[in-house]
Amino acid sequence: MTRKDRTEGIYSRREVLDESERRQYYQIQLKELLSYAYRYSEDVKKRFDRAQFNVDKFKSLSDLKHIPIIKKKELIFLQSMGPRLGGLLTKDLGELRRVFLSPGPIFDPEDRGEDYWGWTEGFYAAGFRSGDLAQVTFNYHLTPAGLMFEEPLRNLGCAVVPSGPGNTSTQLEIMQKLRSTGYVGTPSYLMHLAQKAEEAGINLRKDLFLEVAFVTGEKFSEKMRATIEKKFDLIMRQGYGTADVGCIGYECYHCNGLHLANRAFVEICHPDTGIPLKDGEVGEIVVTAFNRTYPLIRLATGDLSYIDRAPCACGRTSPRLGSIVGRVDTTTRIKGMFVYPHQVEQVMAQFDEIKRWQIEVTNPGGIDEMTLHVEASNFTRSEELLHSFRQQIKLRPSLNVVAPGTLPAQIRPIEDKRKWD
Ligand SMILES: [Zn+2]
Repeated sequence: MTRKDRTEGIYSRREVLDESERRQYYQIQLKELLSYAYRYSEDVKKRFDRAQFNVDKFKSLSDLKHIPIIKKKELIFLQSMGPRLGGLLTKDLGELRRVFLSPGPIFDPEDRGEDYWGWTEGFYAAGFRSGDLAQVTFNYHLTPAGLMFEEPLRNLGCAVVPSGPGNTSTQLEIMQKLRSTGYVGTPSYLMHLAQKAEEAGINLRKDLFLEVAFVTGEKFSEKMRATIEKKFDLIMRQGYGTADVGCIGYECYHCNGLHLANRAFVEICHPDTGIPLKDGEVGEIVVTAFNRTYPLIRLATGDLSYIDRAPCACGRTSPRLGSIVGRVDTTTRIKGMFVYPHQVEQVMAQFDEIKRWQIEVTNPGGIDEMTLHVEASNFTRSEELLHSFRQQIKLRPSLNVVAPGTLPAQIRPIEDKRKWD
């Protein structure tokens, strides 16, 4: 049987809008959404009035920043404030298709419209094609994942085995007997399936027929992707989204970050102020999906990333999120600034002579102090290093150069030794 081409093509014309068409498209979608939500969502009306935000004065995309962000955590409280999930919904619960419950607890409404969760273009980009038989290993109970990921498969003309999580030997038996071509689940579970199959003497390339995998829900390394792709001889691509809004971004064949879904307007903002940051700067992902039923305008996801607008070889013109670099609530703040290990790594990569490094944070007398320890022999570029560090991280550390082998064998990039008692 010849394999399908899973590397080319696009699903929707919206994926290739030029820059001015794209701005215009976002502008129209947002304007319509804001007017509708103000009219039909009690919560949105309250929020806009409190911020003195007048929908009629929404003239350009940059006006959106005048609406305060909603933190995902606030939904727990807001949803309990009365009927229609505290006025967040624009219709009654009985008019919906489903209502899920995610940890929080947060209710996730699903309306009856086509492609409600918006994953279809992402599944196409990942390589799913008509005629695939896909095993969906996400949970089908209470949380939306299982059913959420069936929707794009149905739209693309694929069949689904709703296998849900667990039962590894049954999963493998199904894969073998039905010759499943697609996998949907977490990357670690796919790795687990590979290990169990190998232990059972199953040849992953000859006895199984997987050609494409869509993964989400976990961070994974490029090494792990390469291992899985090689073991099964498949294409593995990831998506990024939440149970509240559905799809936010997805990878294409070229793995250049996550193309922003065309169903939403995404901003990268300062986590405290909600002010949008420049392209390339790391901040919180703030999403406004064009969803009239559940208009979560400027939902701050708690995840940190940055925007990349360089062209992609796939031809899609949507900007991309770089990797998800961390969570707002677990990222170290030093002197009020977020310090991301990957940014420090970028600075260190300019200095070949630095073997290892660590940032140590203390707060003698309640004031943050940061020491940058680096392992290097005959290091002569201290000034250059400090300059580059200040440029990138916006903070000035004290530098401590030590001989190679001095730092402990296992170190965290940022060692936080501050005390608050
Ligand atoms: Zn691309």
